[in-house]
Amino acid sequence: MAGSPFDTSAMEKPRILILGGTTEARELASRLAEDARYDTVISLAGRTADPRPQPVRTRIGGFGGVDGLAHYLREQRIALLVDATHPFAARISHNATEAAQRTRIPLLALRRPEWLPLPGDRWTPVDSIVEAVNALGDRRRRVFLAIGRQEAFHFEVAPQHSYVIRSVDPVTPPLKLPDQEAILATGPFKEADEAALLTSRKIDVIIAKNSGGSATYGKIAAARRLGIEVIMVERRKPADVPTVGTCDEALDRIAHWLAPA
Ligand code: NAP
Repeated sequence: MAGSPFDTSAMEKPRILILGGTTEARELASRLAEDARYDTVISLAGRTADPRPQPVRTRIGGFGGVDGLAHYLREQRIALLVDATHPFAARISHNATEAAQRTRIPLLALRRPEWLPLPGDRWTPVDSIVEAVNALGDRRRRVFLAIGRQEAFHFEVAPQHSYVIRSVDPVTPPLKLPDQEAILATGPFKEADEAALLTSRKIDVIIAKNSGGSATYGKIAAARRLGIEVIMVERRKPADVPTVGTCDEALDRIAHWLAPA
């Protein structure tokens, strides 16, 4: 079969493993669930205490590094691995690349395109969360921290600022910051609601990751409208794997790769 990285002719129903934890992964899973040609499994890291139900069979928890993932791929006779994890989930994406190479199982990355600045945006681009902390400076600022809970601890070295910290689950252990407000919420977030939040809390700077997609773009659009600075943590260069930006493209590629000979 021209263009296919492997032969599926001897298989009944190719099994697809989606590495998930994103809106796109869920959407892809639900599209694949409707397709009787495939047997689809989604994997979640288990970070969220109460994850939304998934439309396909779900496994939860780490695999145990590259070795564990490679073992799972072989044991479960996975025909195709789709890395649809968050663009900032670097470790699992690295593991996926290594395990796919080792097992010779084809790997497709589904990555939403990153946001690009528009006229009126006041972005300060940085390469890491640590750089974002430094970019806040010494003067007291009112910060909206919208990077998730795992890396929020980095801001403990800058207690001179006042923080509004939004995450899906509580930050644990609690942050040692004298002036903080925690908001627990799950996206998507609308621009109007984000603008109301930024205004009511008198926010003058947002810390965000350049995640791309629409679910968390509301704060970026609201910041543009309100003239608020965004310290934008940019993505690292992605690994050199076949990559698509939308579910439709992923479905096309999957059909092409897994089509019966
Ligand atoms: P990470 O640093 O890249 O991964 C850490 C470890 O978590 C991995 O080595 C792996 O453990 C396990 N893991 C991660 N994703 C997994 C998955 N889908 N299925 C099974 N195990 C997984 O990841 P992270 O930044 O902690 O993100 C964890 C999850 O949250 C990801 O699935 C990601 O899509 C989602 N998420 C992340 C962000 C973010 O900003 N980082 C934002 C929204 C959602 P083993 O080595 O033991 O296999």
